[in-house]
Amino acid sequence: MNINKNAKPIDTHSHSDFSPDSQMSVKQAAQAAFEAGLGGFAITDHLDLKAPGGDTRFAFDPAEQQMMIESVSKDFPIKILKGVEIGLQPENIDDIRIFLKDFEFDTVIASIHFVDGVDPYTGGYYEGKEEKQAYGRYLRLTYEMIRTYDDFDILGHFDYIARYAPYSKRSIRYKEYADELDSIFRFMIYNGKALEINTNTYRVRNGQCPVLDPDILKRYSQLGGELLTVGSDAHSPERFGEQFEHYMAFARQCGLRYVSYFEKRKPFPLKIEEFI
Ligand SMILES: [Zn+2]
Ligand SMILES: [Zn+2]
Repeated sequence: MNINKNAKPIDTHSHSDFSPDSQMSVKQAAQAAFEAGLGGFAITDHLDLKAPGGDTRFAFDPAEQQMMIESVSKDFPIKILKGVEIGLQPENIDDIRIFLKDFEFDTVIASIHFVDGVDPYTGGYYEGKEEKQAYGRYLRLTYEMIRTYDDFDILGHFDYIARYAPYSKRSIRYKEYADELDSIFRFMIYNGKALEINTNTYRVRNGQCPVLDPDILKRYSQLGGELLTVGSDAHSPERFGEQFEHYMAFARQCGLRYVSYFEKRKPFPLKIEEFI
């Protein structure tokens, strides 16, 4: 990434080695984000309680993570936000509440990583499902879950289900999922939640790359959506701020005027114009 404008964007989604799928220390992350020209970033480590197959690795001690962030923050002239990415499932809501009740984060991302006890990343989810069924089920579950647990700031990668899909069309089109997306957006706008552009989704996997449908962002804006975040979902240093300029310009063209970050759970909107 090469951002040489006056204002510096904030990457609101990344994982340190407090997440089991990242080897990156908080210090390495800070160095990389600083070198990428960011004004700051959020470390949003995974909290996926009751993961399928009894996988208990996706949890961390927030006290340790926050102490590490505070310590590293002293050595870098950029903002390092304390965050968590909670994986919502119907069966883990009470556990999430208990787990988080004693800690204060800057940023809470809510994501759906598992559907009906299956991890789409491993592929089994798509077996025997048409695209419409696979994506539709994911979006309806998303709506159900955010209504059940709304103590979050950002909806993470709303189109995660397209990342690993085996279909020839690996994108979610607004016109095919208008009802599902409208329900999600209306709820989010009414409740002050931010929509995330997760640039990790738009990378080539198995020779294919999902595309972000501009009609999705246009509709979000048309319904009154103003809170938007851009996150790289970096699990390694080189991905900080990846494609930010492109997607901020894209969002601006779709009618959105701000990108935000969350500090102490409050949104701070920044004008997209300052970055593009
Ligand atoms: Zn995620
Ligand atoms: Zn993530």
